[in-house]
Amino acid sequence: MEIEKEKSIFNAIESGLLESVQAVSAAEGPSVFSLRDDKGYTPAHWACYRGHEEIVRFILDNNGPIDKPSNNELGAHPIHWACVNGHVAIVDILLQAGVSANVVDNKGCTPIIMAAQYGHIVLVSFLMGKGAKPQMGDEDGNGVLHWAVFYGHMELMRYLIHCGLNPKEINKYGQSALHLACINSNFQAVQELHVKHELDINKEDKDGKTPLMLASANHNTVMVDYLHKQIKKKKFFSKIDLISLAFNTLGSGRKPVLFFMINFLCWGYPMYVGLCLPYTWSDFPLLHVVFLFFNIVLWICLFHVSTTDPGYLPRNVPEYDMAIKQLVICSDKTVGQNLLCTLCHTCRLVKPLRSKHCRVCNRCIKVFDHHCPYIYNCVGYKNRGSFALFTTSVSIVLAISFKLSIHTVNNYLEWNWLYKFYVLLMGFYAFSAFGLFVLAIYNAAINVTTNESLAFKKYAYMQDKFGRVKRPFDQGVVNNLLDFFHLRNLIEEDSLDQITVT
Ligand SMILES: [Zn+2]
Ligand SMILES: [Zn+2]
Repeated sequence: MEIEKEKSIFNAIESGLLESVQAVSAAEGPSVFSLRDDKGYTPAHWACYRGHEEIVRFILDNNGPIDKPSNNELGAHPIHWACVNGHVAIVDILLQAGVSANVVDNKGCTPIIMAAQYGHIVLVSFLMGKGAKPQMGDEDGNGVLHWAVFYGHMELMRYLIHCGLNPKEINKYGQSALHLACINSNFQAVQELHVKHELDINKEDKDGKTPLMLASANHNTVMVDYLHKQIKKKKFFSKIDLISLAFNTLGSGRKPVLFFMINFLCWGYPMYVGLCLPYTWSDFPLLHVVFLFFNIVLWICLFHVSTTDPGYLPRNVPEYDMAIKQLVICSDKTVGQNLLCTLCHTCRLVKPLRSKHCRVCNRCIKVFDHHCPYIYNCVGYKNRGSFALFTTSVSIVLAISFKLSIHTVNNYLEWNWLYKFYVLLMGFYAFSAFGLFVLAIYNAAINVTTNESLAFKKYAYMQDKFGRVKRPFDQGVVNNLLDFFHLRNLIEEDSLDQITVT
């Protein structure tokens, strides 16, 4: 009798007809929803798996179990099964009924991991919007990004990295996404992870295996050749990459700020006061006045630009919840990744055009330009003017220092190794600062941010139909500069925020 009941409810669910399920429930009573099939799954598992929304609601209305794990070694919950097939609407019903977005099966898999394994990008985004923790790993420490890479879901991989997931994160075996891409011969992922995201191709996992060894074990000759070439290239560039030696080694913390301060306060100013000023004051009195004036401007701008709000966008806005709700009626095929990329799951907001989430500040910034390590702040809509003045004053100060130091040594001192080093370093800083200054002013004049100019391929609005860079905000040099320094009414620019990227 029990077997008959079991057969009829599972058959009714398989048919997908609510009437059939209602008939079985009326005949046998709502206890049929607590039955298990021969593999230990409940009717809710199958209704979720097949995406029968009405049936799931009916089970709920009859107080049937909708969150019981299967009675087998997997221990999957119905929500995991809904995720296998990417049924966003079903997941929404379950979450509204109180099912946890982070419930785990016996292998430690969360619903979002399941959605990632099957490449359901909309569902992944929806779950993040509903409080799923994408950084939670399964029992082996593999998170959503590991699984997306392992199964070759490239769009999802890019989306997860865009959302702030760290591709360098390792699992319990010490393997990053790059190791997994090599294990599963995902060549495109290997290229992107290495070139764009700088994952180390020589990094060993806990068994001492590098990505190259894992690719070799798979006999993937194309990938092995590629990795060999990259290793050779890396050896060559590591010998000559002085710029990254000078800057990247400083890291992204407060060290660059300290580096800037130490250079100015510990040897820049002492050299100026001790050597340049006494010898050259009478030669160039006006130049010294200009130098002192721009030093004052420099420190005021530095203080302002590093302590002011660069244009933080308000968090937890209702538009975000509305956008997440909208995802219920979207599918992986109908939704563009650009639309998903406008959602910031960290700030819980819909990003306006030209804004971006800064991973260091952990906030979305209006008209994001870049995160500057030397001011330990973002440069954006509100502080870009002070930043431009800051780079201008730094360039002028360094250029004058360079000229004065050469003049001092040439005319009043003997060239020794210390002075040569000092002048060379001063020259290097002066030219670097001048380059940054020219770039900042040029970008302001054409109304393009540093972020847009470096990553225009990421933004549909920055490209014409042939994929070439375009300047959609350019209103002529004068108007652009007036807007940049907030000297003109910005009605036009604000209205551009409303444009949806497609
Ligand atoms: Zn954000
Ligand atoms: Zn920042």
